[in-house]
Amino acid sequence: MFDKIVIANRGEIALRILRACRELGIKVVAVHSDVDRDLKHVRLADESVCIGPAASSESYLNIPAIISAAEVTDAEAIHPGYGFLSENADFSEKVKQSGFVFIGPEADTIRLMGDKISAKKAMQAAGIPCVPGNGEPLDDNNDHNLKLAREIGYPIIIKASGGGGGRGMRTVHTEAALINAISLTKAEAASAFGNATVYMEKFLEDPRHIEFQVLADAHGNAVHLGERDCSMQRRHQKVVEEAPAPGVTEEQRRTMGELCAKACRDIGYLGAGTFEFLYEKGNFYFIEMNTRVQVEHPVTEMVTGFDIVKEQLRIAYGLPLSITQEQVKIQGHAIECRLNAEDPKTFMPCPGTINQFHMPGGPGIRCETHIYNGYKVPPYYDSMIGKLIAHGEHRGSAIARMNTALSEIIIDGIKTNIPLQKEIMSDTGFIEGQRNIHYLEKLLGIH
Ligand code: ADP
Repeated sequence: MFDKIVIANRGEIALRILRACRELGIKVVAVHSDVDRDLKHVRLADESVCIGPAASSESYLNIPAIISAAEVTDAEAIHPGYGFLSENADFSEKVKQSGFVFIGPEADTIRLMGDKISAKKAMQAAGIPCVPGNGEPLDDNNDHNLKLAREIGYPIIIKASGGGGGRGMRTVHTEAALINAISLTKAEAASAFGNATVYMEKFLEDPRHIEFQVLADAHGNAVHLGERDCSMQRRHQKVVEEAPAPGVTEEQRRTMGELCAKACRDIGYLGAGTFEFLYEKGNFYFIEMNTRVQVEHPVTEMVTGFDIVKEQLRIAYGLPLSITQEQVKIQGHAIECRLNAEDPKTFMPCPGTINQFHMPGGPGIRCETHIYNGYKVPPYYDSMIGKLIAHGEHRGSAIARMNTALSEIIIDGIKTNIPLQKEIMSDTGFIEGQRNIHYLEKLLGIH
């Protein structure tokens, strides 16, 4: 196994990776910005290197600084976590060129899946069902574009090939709005992502978000760990996630899961990854692949008993997966509530000092957070400060345990979204399950 790695991230995921390293006897180098000296994983790391000022562009996105930190500490590999440089193909490439191991897929794979058009093409070729629409870049031929949209049938969605983070998409309900919508989305995509390429596909009106977790090693083995339902979203950002997805049958799990594992083998995928689908009327439609560990990975760990981060480290070192598909059994149900430092009504971020933190506990409760008494949440980064995960023998007991944990947890000094999470956990529609991606916004009165 590796002797020492660099964790190129911050917050709860950096701590999560550090814990996996401890179990495997790997030493940890924490790289951090100058306002992040007091992060929990920085304090626990074997070594730490300050890589720049608070602004992410000068620290957590500063490729030369991160690689230098690996050089001066004699580390062997770099774990990018999620966000920041985790899906940056150039980073993966430069890490490799500098003689280190990137804990994730090859740069070419990140590039292939990072572009929505090439990802859709690769998935179609691998037999993965995709959203109707040919996935070709749209040119300026209005007649052709009108014809395409008519064939797909309205409503349609114009999507930027290089888009991400829920941006670069525009829904079109009528033919009259199409041409204008295409040029607007192109212009936005050019300025936001430096790539004006857009394509069109069917806009699904009542979908759920269901995604499959996969792991693939360098020896041609690929397994799936079942699915997660992440339909509780606000502004395309996940708020609550769960595994398994309510209503998905064993048969659907096996068929879709195996298709995803096969697609990994087809494209030579390496590491942990997620195939995201929209699920409507019993059908799955691929939307994108995330080539990294995800925020919601713990719900899968809770129902399968496997450690996804440890597998990432094993795979990157060149070891075979320690899991076979036959060993993967879904046991019980797990739910994750994201904890954000934000106003529960306005959703404005609320950084500040945590005067008191009390972690909940009890059977089936897992709390992933880097916060502690006196910790100061900085204003410079994502407002997520942790995740609360509840596992129970069935969905009802997981919800009951989550409710107990939410009533026990104390985060004093800053505003958090705990009141919102309590509201969701006691909402009849959520409790019934199988709600679509618009449900939470409707509940919040946004639509
Ligand atoms: P991003 O990379 O920005 O996250 P995705 O392609 O994953 O973009 O889509 C993000 C979200 O946008 C989806 O979870 C869904 O809510 C919505 N969306 C994307 N494509 C469609 C579609 N064809 N029909 C309906 N909603 C869609």
